[in-house]
Amino acid sequence: MRGCPVSVPGMSTALQNETVELLQQLIRFDTVNPPGNERPAIEHLERYCTQAGFDCVLLADDPQRPNLVATLGATDGTDGPVLCLLGHVDTVLADPAAWEHDPWSGDVADGFLWGRGALDMKDQVAAEAVAAVSLAREGWRPARGALRLVFVSDEETGGDVGARWLCENHPDAVRCDMLLNEGGGEVFEFSGRRHYGVCCAEKGIYRFTITAHGEAGHASMPTIGDNALLKLAPVLAALADPPPGYAMTEAPAALLRGLGLDPDDPDSSLQALRAENPGLFVMAAPMFQVTLTPTMASASQKMNVIPSRAEIRVDCRTPPGLGESETLARIEQVLGIRDGEGPFTISFTERTIGNASPVESELMTFISRWVEQADPGASAVPLILPGFSDSNWFRTAFPECVGYGFFPQRHQSLLESAPLVHSANERIDVRDLGFATGFYRDCISGLLGS
Ligand SMILES: [Zn+2]
Repeated sequence: MRGCPVSVPGMSTALQNETVELLQQLIRFDTVNPPGNERPAIEHLERYCTQAGFDCVLLADDPQRPNLVATLGATDGTDGPVLCLLGHVDTVLADPAAWEHDPWSGDVADGFLWGRGALDMKDQVAAEAVAAVSLAREGWRPARGALRLVFVSDEETGGDVGARWLCENHPDAVRCDMLLNEGGGEVFEFSGRRHYGVCCAEKGIYRFTITAHGEAGHASMPTIGDNALLKLAPVLAALADPPPGYAMTEAPAALLRGLGLDPDDPDSSLQALRAENPGLFVMAAPMFQVTLTPTMASASQKMNVIPSRAEIRVDCRTPPGLGESETLARIEQVLGIRDGEGPFTISFTERTIGNASPVESELMTFISRWVEQADPGASAVPLILPGFSDSNWFRTAFPECVGYGFFPQRHQSLLESAPLVHSANERIDVRDLGFATGFYRDCISGLLGS
């Protein structure tokens, strides 16, 4: 393990300003996905990296939606590790009427930079790019291994032309040993101590449909048919109040230990978390269990016809490593029904197993030391992202790769940031752009040699 040169809090304002400027430029490209139309934003980043001496290549399945791979150093793996800084440039949609500043303005006001993508995740793309480009411009080159910047399209709708496509079709272009992506890093407090979450895993997605079968009939005579919709009432009630059940994995167990709680007693630990910090509990509880959230329903197509068939669609998220059979077992336990028995069938419409990186690694050691020096008294703790990210595709393609989500925010906390993601008035404290750029610079030179 090399030393851990920390450049904050004396981090240069010039670099913070450069990150602010690049983020403003990125936000002004409308990359709402669908349709994405990420080409102008990706080409902007390509020019920025090429000028600093990076080898740049655009790889695209859809010509309007390319992905940028910018490399510095030898990537054959013989000379040391490949460190990859990953980011997506597409965003979800935004309704300007609900915003205080236009979502594509990149306005700086009240100490914040406003715009769609300011947190998810053009901020990180800008900080990663400025960190890497500023080092390269100063003449820095890896003393060992290589640095790779991978800026992709199409994360918000699944990566079919983005990270997933890259990992499956151009693995040699994006292969890496260490990966930094979105999913963690905002500061939060517990028991009087400041913590920075490092996302070591994302949950899997096992969306499914529960169908109840009955018999049609005229709605004027309720008992003439067998109303499939009514059969779903107990299923909905069970979803509203599921029995406790935990699937404890490595990262959340380490999180509880890091917070001074007991992973062998998840019930009491989660109660303690809820009592002290209800907002944190809402975000943390899904890390420990299969979540089942009904989001869509359908039954009869006609007002006067008793439905012979009724459906509920459930967004189900699973802890990493949990496969289809274990997921189905938990679903049947919660709902008290079995697939194919009685009037019910359960069918999966989407299956992506969640994966994880180990919580102990050279990268984690670096992050922990950096946090301790950059924010004295604070600590880094592992966590699982309740949602999904492109890290999953990298871990699947490169099982040896250690991939974490980490974008350190010291000023704008987790509880302040989380409600703004995918929401109106998305914004970032400009001081955190400097803080994060400092982290990526230290990380690059610390892990690849200065
Ligand atoms: Zn994102």
